[in-house]
Amino acid sequence: MKGDLYLAWSSDEKIREKGESGGAVTALLKFALASGIVDAVLAVKKRNGNRYDGVLSLMTHPDQVIESAGTLHFATVNVAKEIKEYLNGANDMKMAVTCKPCDCRAIIELAKRGQINIENVILVGLNCTGTLLPAVARRMIRDEYEADPDDVVSEDMDNAKFVIKLADGTTKERELNKLEEKGYGRRENCRRCTINIPRMADMACGAWGTRGKNATFIEVCSPKGSKLIEKAIEAGALIVEPADREAVEERAKKDKEAIELAEAWEKKDLDVLRLLPYNDRLKYWLRYFDRCIKCFGCRDACPICYCQECYLEPERGFVKGGETPPGMMYHLVRLAHVADSCVNCGQCEDVCPMEIPLTKLYYMLNCELSSLFDYIPGMDVSNYPPLTTVTDEELHIEEVNVLRRKQLR
Ligand code: SF4
Ligand code: SF4
Ligand code: SF4
Repeated sequence: MKGDLYLAWSSDEKIREKGESGGAVTALLKFALASGIVDAVLAVKKRNGNRYDGVLSLMTHPDQVIESAGTLHFATVNVAKEIKEYLNGANDMKMAVTCKPCDCRAIIELAKRGQINIENVILVGLNCTGTLLPAVARRMIRDEYEADPDDVVSEDMDNAKFVIKLADGTTKERELNKLEEKGYGRRENCRRCTINIPRMADMACGAWGTRGKNATFIEVCSPKGSKLIEKAIEAGALIVEPADREAVEERAKKDKEAIELAEAWEKKDLDVLRLLPYNDRLKYWLRYFDRCIKCFGCRDACPICYCQECYLEPERGFVKGGETPPGMMYHLVRLAHVADSCVNCGQCEDVCPMEIPLTKLYYMLNCELSSLFDYIPGMDVSNYPPLTTVTDEELHIEEVNVLRRKQLR
């Protein structure tokens, strides 16, 4: 039931060998598909065996699931966006999806907006302390570890260290902080991320608390998650034991350390800006907005931007056909629409060709709004974002205004 804490592993030797932490997640996904609980599994796997090229894969046969076993820290896939754009909101298909905390939060935000039918989706949450951009990771491994990036067979982040294992069996580790001071390591949004255990999912799975045992620590977070786990245990696909006090304490300690590291990065990245007088802060951002080529990349990548008819397109009457949005309009519209619901996923910044620190802006504003409205996006499907409470009357006034503007052109 919700709140249960387990150490779990797969009963299948092949899955235990190929997967990490006892292969419990792979075992659960395979069981969900084989038992007909879901029609498909959506998980990340290596494209052509390349660990720097993680892609989302939709699997419909239980034997395919093993291909997604193991952790990939160099995959920054846009899970929520892919479900919404390419699976038509997954409204008909029952799916189990592996997702990091920011992915789960984006899925929950989209579910609130009627874009994903959350009842049909089982969120298999994975603990996360960060992902690395593939190009940065390759450079870092060459420069800082003096190793060939293609020789890496696994990587891990633990005890504030980034550890790589090479094909010859050797391991090399470096301190995360030192790597990140040099511009390597995790994406900037990940460095500031304090939500490492995805309790908003149906279950939260990770290696923290397993104390060297080849097992996964699972926290059951919803009745849906509980049902899948109980059935997998009954069927013998998953072996579990209750997590003891030491395991729970170790997990809590690791989480606390990760949060402290993130808070230190947040302070370092944002305090300088927060302490600037208002005009200087505005100038700081205006200088960045001047760089923007209005390629629309950040809008297209943002999982929270979901409107079929965007205010930034001519159809809505605010932007002239054939022209880009004038002046600051592009960024003001994005900020007004997304800031209260930004889940700090970093997708916007990843795609920006002008290297504008977009996540810093959205995260800063989201922190202000979160404390003002006591609202953290993506934590609970029944809790609506504060800036979306528009009345029918207001919507009607807006439609009339758009019509008037079109007539005046
Ligand atoms: S923002 Fe980064 S650290 Fe946080 S959940 Fe997402 S990928 Fe993980
Ligand atoms: S604004 Fe950027 S960081 Fe925030 S949800 Fe959208 S893509 Fe993610
Ligand atoms: S991705 Fe960057 S350059 Fe493109 S519109 Fe967004 S902020 Fe501007």
